[in-house]
Amino acid sequence: MTQKLLEVKNVTKIFRIGGLIRGKRLVAVDDVSLEIEREKPVILSIVGESGCGKSTLCRMLLRIHKPDMGDIVLSGSSYADRKNYDPTRFRLDVQPIFQNPYEAFSARKKVDTYLYNTALRLGIAKNRKEADERIDEVLKSVGMSLSVVKGKYPTQFSGGELQRISIARALITRPKLIIADEPVSAVDASLKMNIVNLFKELKDEYNVSFIYVTHDLSTAYYVSDYMATLYRGSLIEYGPAREIMDNPAHPYTELLVNAVPRVGEKWDEELVMPDMEEKEYAITYCKFAPRCPYATDICRKQRPEMREFGARKVLCYHPLFEGQSLTQFDEYRTSGS
Ligand code: SF4
Repeated sequence: MTQKLLEVKNVTKIFRIGGLIRGKRLVAVDDVSLEIEREKPVILSIVGESGCGKSTLCRMLLRIHKPDMGDIVLSGSSYADRKNYDPTRFRLDVQPIFQNPYEAFSARKKVDTYLYNTALRLGIAKNRKEADERIDEVLKSVGMSLSVVKGKYPTQFSGGELQRISIARALITRPKLIIADEPVSAVDASLKMNIVNLFKELKDEYNVSFIYVTHDLSTAYYVSDYMATLYRGSLIEYGPAREIMDNPAHPYTELLVNAVPRVGEKWDEELVMPDMEEKEYAITYCKFAPRCPYATDICRKQRPEMREFGARKVLCYHPLFEGQSLTQFDEYRTSGS
């Protein structure tokens, strides 16, 4: 049996909101399963509106949060196996890229300090000379160089440049997996595609897979091999990205795909939906049923199970396929009901 690079197995994360007595449970990530093959590097986009659980899932992948249920397995090693956990090995294999590059680098520290720390402390380079070579190599692969970066502070770079440096820093360890949580949301709209296109180039150059977390479906379309759509903590559609974008099967994915405007615009600004977020997290039947024009009795009775259609998985009783009209959604969106 081929070992997977990453297996997310029925992972659930629950937060308590409010006090112990009157507080509520919020299932931020609800029974999510995903996997990334090992043989060939891929870009898997995790997409969804704000509050869909994608950042919480990211934090669990980075071991910042512990799942309440389920398990995550990286190259055959379970996150639940605390006894054999090697934090250095994990930092070599999995690298994060965060949303705001200005927060990733302290304004009082020279940017190259971070790069040298990563190279020297994690044992990638034995001495300063080796570190120079490694750092220059990774900076060049993102269109910069050590001579440009050396001795400068974060404020001397644009957001786009700083995010390129973050990507270079992540590459220093030659990771197997880079987890990029909304990496272009703080970057100028005109530069977003440049940054995400880098993922595509680096994927093969460094043989590294990316998890690209975004609410910007237009950038995800261009770079993703696979796509996972989250809605209120649940994985609702998962499979080859082009297939999903060209022919979405879940009514919510279709709504999102058709709301995609131009590169850089957010879905949130396009979609007008009634504010019933909190209630939807607690729904025991299909969470999208209150908004879905295709809902039938069964949708309002019990939660659908993930169904497989070729390489695609869809959490829906009535998946949409070719030929379905969006008229019902158009009516829904304009009626304001
Ligand atoms: Fe809509 Fe029913 Fe599918 Fe839920 S299960 S998305 S309500 S059709």
